[in-house]
Amino acid sequence: MDYDEFFADKVAALKTEGRYRVFADLERDAGKFPAAINYQGDEIADVTVWCSNDYLGMGQSTVVMDAMHQAIDKCGAGAGGTRNISGTNHYHVLLEQELAKLHKKEAGLIFTSGYVANLTTLSTIGQMLPDCVIISDALNHNSMIAGIKHSRSEKMIFKHNDLEDLERKLKKVNSHQPKMIAFESVYSMDGDISPIKEICDLAEKYNALTFLDEVHAVGLYGNHGAGVAERDGIMDRIDIIQGTMAKGFGVVGGYIAGSASLCDFIRSYGDGFIFSSSMPPAVAAGCLASVKYVKEHNELREQHQERASTLKQRLSDIGIPVMPTETHIVPVIVGDPVLCKQASDELMFNHGIYVQPINYPTVPRGTERLRFTPTPLHNDELMDHLVKALKKVWGQLGLKEAA
Ligand SMILES: *Cc1c(COP(=O)(O)O)cnc(C)c1O
Repeated sequence: MDYDEFFADKVAALKTEGRYRVFADLERDAGKFPAAINYQGDEIADVTVWCSNDYLGMGQSTVVMDAMHQAIDKCGAGAGGTRNISGTNHYHVLLEQELAKLHKKEAGLIFTSGYVANLTTLSTIGQMLPDCVIISDALNHNSMIAGIKHSRSEKMIFKHNDLEDLERKLKKVNSHQPKMIAFESVYSMDGDISPIKEICDLAEKYNALTFLDEVHAVGLYGNHGAGVAERDGIMDRIDIIQGTMAKGFGVVGGYIAGSASLCDFIRSYGDGFIFSSSMPPAVAAGCLASVKYVKEHNELREQHQERASTLKQRLSDIGIPVMPTETHIVPVIVGDPVLCKQASDELMFNHGIYVQPINYPTVPRGTERLRFTPTPLHNDELMDHLVKALKKVWGQLGLKEAA
């Protein structure tokens, strides 16, 4: 077999379908967010980034950068091992305490990424709880699906945010069997929010554990930025809250927060926690500074929401088909992978606007979209420019207008 031919054919198939992924080669410019430099072959161009998950621009906050500079000078580059074998630095310990406090839980546990946090936690619980059934929302993130698959426990999928279907599934499981409901608070592609309270009511009724991914909500919702469960006053009803430090907190790394016994259990049995070197101390220090800062700055959250609702309003005013979301996510439907890429290229190369096309399998076919994530740093002037450019591109490519 010609292996290379096989690999090349697989990639060619993606190109034919119009969903081959091209990465924008960016150089972020600290202090100038959302401006960046885009390397385009031999040339460079200034662009405005409109699709970053650094939702508050904390990735360039001097508070965070100073903490990282200090920690790197103090502790050096790497952590030097796994958490068990010389890789636990004091910053890791402080960060776990801070995250526990943020979510009002007994303990926190950090991972190298949010992906690894989901994969490890779900797979470990599913593997170890005898006869466990995991009941999972149909639109859960790939990292949760990977964790559930890897657990090899029985799984049931309930229709997205559908309480009746969830209850139907819960009823099907033997009452003596352990169960876990796995879901997200903010679904980041459609920008909708799950009925957390009602899901907790069902979990209580059927004695199920609750696992909530707040990746697109931490830093952004609630009085201290602990997420939607904090905003809704129901953090105490969630058994396991999972989050990332790579999005709203602007650095990198994942975590869970929960009871002391749960975190000690994952710490002791979770392969993805045990067998991987811990994050560099300076990264942990940056995360710690970010969580502490964001907790105290509600005005960031208010500005963030204001920017998102203003953009949604302005786009719908000119007939751009923006999905009516209740969150900070501003998805604009194109509905075709090739046109979606064309629109994105047009914006990038002729208007200095970077917004990544989102195609299958990240979203269902036929719902290809541009997903805008305005931050508090996207000012009116940048927004004027975006709105004008979108209007032009929409006409030029003959894209569908809002109904
Ligand atoms: C991005 C994402 C993750 C993974 O988090 P990382 O820290 O980027 O690995 C997990 N869940 C959801 C819903 C995500 O969007």
